[in-house]
Amino acid sequence: MQPERFDVVVIGGGPAGSTAATLSAMQGHKVLLLDRVQHPRYSIGESLLPSTIHGIVPMLGVADEVKRANFQKKFGGYCKWGASPDPWTFHFARALTDPTGYAYQVERSRFDAILINNAARKGVDVRQQHAVSEIIEERGRVTGVRFTDGSGKEGRATSRVVVDCSGHTTRFHEQVGERVFSKFFQNMALFAYYEGAKRMPPPSDGNILIIAFDMGWFWFIPLSPKLTSVGAVIGKEHAGILKKGNDVAMRELIERAPIIKDHLSTAKRVETGEYGEYRVRRDWSYMNTKFWKPGMMLCGDAACFIDPIISTGVHLATYSGLQAARSINTVLRGDLEEEECFIEYERRYRREYNNFHDFLVGFYDWNKHESSYFWHARRIVSSDDEAKTAFVRLVAGANNDEQLYENPQEFAGAAISPGAPTGTAPPKPHGEGDGVTQHLLGSEAAQMLAQASFGRERERRVAVEKPLFEGGLVPSLDGFHWRRSAS
Ligand SMILES: Cc1cc2nc3c(=O)[nH]c(=O)nc-3n(C[C@H](O)[C@H](O)[C@H](O)COP(=O)(O)OP(=O)(O)OC[C@H]3O[C@@H](n4cnc5c(N)ncnc54)[C@H](O)[C@@H]3O)c2cc1C
Repeated sequence: MQPERFDVVVIGGGPAGSTAATLSAMQGHKVLLLDRVQHPRYSIGESLLPSTIHGIVPMLGVADEVKRANFQKKFGGYCKWGASPDPWTFHFARALTDPTGYAYQVERSRFDAILINNAARKGVDVRQQHAVSEIIEERGRVTGVRFTDGSGKEGRATSRVVVDCSGHTTRFHEQVGERVFSKFFQNMALFAYYEGAKRMPPPSDGNILIIAFDMGWFWFIPLSPKLTSVGAVIGKEHAGILKKGNDVAMRELIERAPIIKDHLSTAKRVETGEYGEYRVRRDWSYMNTKFWKPGMMLCGDAACFIDPIISTGVHLATYSGLQAARSINTVLRGDLEEEECFIEYERRYRREYNNFHDFLVGFYDWNKHESSYFWHARRIVSSDDEAKTAFVRLVAGANNDEQLYENPQEFAGAAISPGAPTGTAPPKPHGEGDGVTQHLLGSEAAQMLAQASFGRERERRVAVEKPLFEGGLVPSLDGFHWRRSAS
């Protein structure tokens, strides 16, 4: 059987895969995207961040379509968390300029279908119900994949780069490195869908609720005026409750969380269709020891996953998809060597991941008062703006930090190092707005927003980009490639 030839093969059509494939095809490359299922398909991961909606979505060219989809707007969150007896709130608009001060709560089946259909329109050869069974390697270099279509027919495709975006269930990450699980974030999630639940008063009616209780925490995500996604995340030490059966377990868990109980007091669980079943996911955080090898990259959940409490999964998936596409486009155009570009990719993705990871280590230490989370967030994002703004920047996907875990043991242990979140002196509050804009412009997510808004004009409109690492690369003017920094 003769293989089909492509420049790029992408495995998986979730947010990571659709982003990487689309942004490569938009540069004229021949891209094949294989997904083992047919979209629309169910997925968890419904609460998005502004960086995805206002950064990646416009770059992919689907801003209007996403707007027309009429997803529930999310302006922030309502949290019962920490030692404070009172719930507290955060709003994205506190740190982001108004037009980008919101995100969406999405039904992922619809959101992911928009992205994968757009990939096809942008020239990607999208084949659904095509499962990749094997990565082909020749003399230490990945050269293609074998796959099986819905009728059981086998195929083979060769390419210069294979991008594994097949999510947390991927087996192919083993060909690149070892998956190291965090010792700290070892949770289980039990989730279901409800109709008729209560809402906060507008404009907070679309906000996420994050409610801690004695065994873990609940998410309450309004997906539409009628439909709500509700999940209980419990430590693995409490997993025994699931032996009672999902329905009994969920009822008992809800009983322990009065705010959730009250919000669901008017609701009925959905029992049919896409949302009609209880689902259980082990959501242990992990990171691969390597994100690339010659001819192959890991992207999205295939590379790493962090506890979902501040809704970072789709942001990390699309962020890594963008960085992967920049690396691929640069290599295929012959501008820079693969190794340099793939190293840049891995370092940026690790950095973004680590910002959230380090923050969450402190966040999970829920004996602290609310304000200590904000001080901790501030330390992680290295800013001097008001502490609460730093928290919001982090949960909006607009952060900036240099720390890297390249050593897997360091990663696994880092989460349990005592005292990590504390010890930062509170900053002096300062005048409205000044620091916020500056720091946003300095961050990676802000560059994405600028890219989406200004295109090639952005260097005239925003701060000049510096490499994030010594000797590192910066995005090209068009945002689709890497280049060496002029400075
Ligand atoms: C309990 C829980 C709650 C979460 N809540 C949130 C949230 O509120 N907000 C948020 O942003 N994130 C959340 N996440 C994380 C989010 O679900 C993921 O991070 C995100 O979906 C990752 O996107 P991806 O593209 O990497 O992978 P996926 O979205 O998993 O896509 C992978 C694709 O690959 C395909 N595939 C798999 N194997 C193959 C194969 N062999 N061949 C071809 N195709 C294949 C699959 O069919 C799938 O379409 C949550 C996660 C968990 C566990």
